[in-house]
Amino acid sequence: MMRTSSTLLYTGLLKRVAIFAVCLFVFCEWFIYYLVIFQCSWPEINIDENNRQSEPLKAMLLTDTHLLGSKDGHWFDKLRREWQMERAFQTALSHFNPDVVFLLGDLFDEGMKCSDEEWDFYIQRFRRMFRHSEHTELHVVVGNHDIGFHPDASRDKHLFRRFSSVFDSPSVELLSIRGNLFVLVNSIALQGDECSMCSEAMTQLMSVADKLNCHRERTKKEIYEDLAKKQKTSCDLPKDSPAPILIQHFPLYRRTEVNCAGADAPPAEEKNSVNREKWEVVSKKMSNKLLQLIRPRLVLSGHTHHGCYLVHDDGTPEMTIPSFSWRNRNNPSFVLSIITPDKFAISKCFIPRETTVIAVYIIAGAVFVLMNLRPTYVYLRSRRTCRQIKYESCCIR
Ligand SMILES: [Zn+2]
Repeated sequence: MMRTSSTLLYTGLLKRVAIFAVCLFVFCEWFIYYLVIFQCSWPEINIDENNRQSEPLKAMLLTDTHLLGSKDGHWFDKLRREWQMERAFQTALSHFNPDVVFLLGDLFDEGMKCSDEEWDFYIQRFRRMFRHSEHTELHVVVGNHDIGFHPDASRDKHLFRRFSSVFDSPSVELLSIRGNLFVLVNSIALQGDECSMCSEAMTQLMSVADKLNCHRERTKKEIYEDLAKKQKTSCDLPKDSPAPILIQHFPLYRRTEVNCAGADAPPAEEKNSVNREKWEVVSKKMSNKLLQLIRPRLVLSGHTHHGCYLVHDDGTPEMTIPSFSWRNRNNPSFVLSIITPDKFAISKCFIPRETTVIAVYIIAGAVFVLMNLRPTYVYLRSRRTCRQIKYESCCIR
């Protein structure tokens, strides 16, 4: 009789532990993404219905996913952070259903030093994690971790070639999506030297600028003098084309991060350190050239892993998007943007913090243990009594 009740207590306790563990795991690894991301929404934008030519474009932007390779990082680190990014991306995609997703570089952590075999494995994982429906376009720009900084990328041309062929991403690309123009730039190639990747990028940049500036009023703003000399008879883009949005991995030149605004801007101790041109930011000369050639209405960048919103001296706003991975920050985020040819609005959506998930595991585990102290004690006591009875009956015999 005593033995039966002890077994019942034991199976009951085991059952409770199993149900609790499954529920906690599902909450922390799946449900919490819905709970947090569902609190975000598309930014509000006022659209003049009389002037409306097409549906506003819904764009989602993220950056610095840094999928780990075989050399750096632990297998558990890779498993955990890739699961976090896949769940966050898939949850956001199913909830917001964007028309286009832009990934702003450093897709891979070891793209610049992995073999072709590992590269293929990288691509498989990337495609699985960032899978999307045919309705959603996905465009990427290259980052320094994908092909290396300029010295490595210019030495080994194969690195950019394999990235470019897989993602169909030339050094400079002009995209037109629902009447909105985007210029995607390989910022590693903006060195202004004679390396083949750099000179190819400059040729493409000049060709894109030529298209953009064909109709533009040249008197109001100074245009790069090479362009001003050219007089074209016909233009590729319609006359009422909007100013483009510039998307690249490196931010445009800023001496420090002091002017960065935003909840996830760099911490005070990092804000004052001076940015190195061509390493942390595009060189000052090339940044001015980009602003003058492209004359963007907005610049979007990544690379620093921190958030930053600032306005350049010529009035162009730039938003640097923080990393999407827990590996680089505790509170990763992505950006939602509604874009029309004459307006845009941006909002930032934070995904669950890593510390929150860990805290939920620890607190829920501790509460469960406390709540089950009494049944565990009763079970252990009944086992002891059982053992004593067995012992006594054995001795009496
Ligand atoms: Zn980077």
